[in-house]
Formats: sequence, C-alpha cells, structure tokens
Amino acid sequence: MNKALILTVEDDPPVRNLITTTLKAHDYRYLSAANGDAAIMLASSHNPDIILLDLGLPDMDGVELITKIRSWSNVPIIVISARSEDEDKISALDAGADDYLTKPFSVEELLARIRSTCRRLAAVSTDNGDAVFKNGKLCIDFAAGCAYLGGEELHLTPIEYKLLCLLAKNVGKVLTHSYITDKIWGSSRENDLASMRVFMASLRKKLEQTPNSPQYIQTHIGVGYRMIKTE
Ligand code: CA
Repeated sequence: MNKALILTVEDDPPVRNLITTTLKAHDYRYLSAANGDAAIMLASSHNPDIILLDLGLPDMDGVELITKIRSWSNVPIIVISARSEDEDKISALDAGADDYLTKPFSVEELLARIRSTCRRLAAVSTDNGDAVFKNGKLCIDFAAGCAYLGGEELHLTPIEYKLLCLLAKNVGKVLTHSYITDKIWGSSRENDLASMRVFMASLRKKLEQTPNSPQYIQTHIGVGYRMIKTE
C-alpha cells in the first residue's frame, strides 16, 4: 500500500527524529528539512502529500514559509509548534495552514491528525467539488440549497446554512473566527464575532444530537471552528 509522503520541517534534531521515527514505524514515506529553504526545495521537488511544520525555524518564520508554499501548492500543512499562544496559531491558520498541534504533543495525537488529513485528501480526490457534500449522516445539496441529517431536512436560516456550507467546504480544516466572519459578513468586527457565536450555537442545536460532545463541529477555544470528517 502506497502511504502518504510526509515532509517534516523541524530544526530541533530530537523532535525531528521522534517524528520521522514515528512515521517510519507506521509505514509512511517521509522527508525532513531543518530549515525553511530546505523545506521549500523538498516541497517543490517531491510534492509531498502532507507537511508537518515547526513555526520557529532558524532562517525564516514558519508563517512566512506557509505563505510561500501556498503561492504554488494546496498541500495540507499541519503546524507543530511550541508556541501555545493563540495568536501564532491564528496567523498560521490564516496564512493557509490546515491544522495545528502544540508541543509537547503525543505521538498518538500526531498520528490521529495525519490519518484525519489523509481521509480528507481521499474525500477531496473522489468528490471533485461535486454539487452534493456528504459527511456521516450530514448531506448538503449545494444546488438545491438544502441540508439533510439522516435523510431529514434541516430547517436552517440563511446564515446558519452559509456557516454550514463554509465549514463543509473546508472539512477537516480549522477556520479562524476572523476568517469565518469575513466570509459570512464581509468584515470581522467585535459584533460580528458575537453574532457568529450565536448563529454557531443555533446551527449546532439543529445539527448535533448532543451539542456538548459535537460530532460535526468542533470548537477550538480562542481560535475558531472545524468540521470533523467522520469515518
Ligand atoms: Ca524550532
């Protein structure tokens, strides 16, 4: 079985070795780079399926590297960073990263993120941007402008529907608060943020069977929301 090719960008040798040893043990194909320039070379020459990226690199900021890679590639980027501050995660996500892990992280958690990214890649490569989105019991018919849960139509307001579509079109990816308010309201002022929380809560009431342990929409406190790709 041809497993994903994963590029690890990390300047700290023990962490880099931990990651590559883990990837090897789980039959992933892997490459590694210790700085941003080497990462750009490898990313452009080998076309990896996933990039694991440390934000603090010796030659450039990780966010700058994300911006450069995004100028030519949509490869999923999972940020791995010691910086636990929300601002760094948010700027990495807004620059185009898909997900993040905060150091210290567990190997199991890393593998889970990689598996979920692979599932999302498989889903993207089979649906070709079709008019119907399916995820578990959720189904969205974009052409008809309707969403269904287990075959029953969800009665959503126009904004709830827009929110659901935005999350669905970016399934698996963490979307920041400002990205969401910008896409839905065209701005990201304080009161848009408050409105978004209200609409998100009402959407979840309709979508989630148990809103306290959501199956579809995950909250990233202080950062944003993600639609989970169910198996
Ligand atoms: Ca570092």
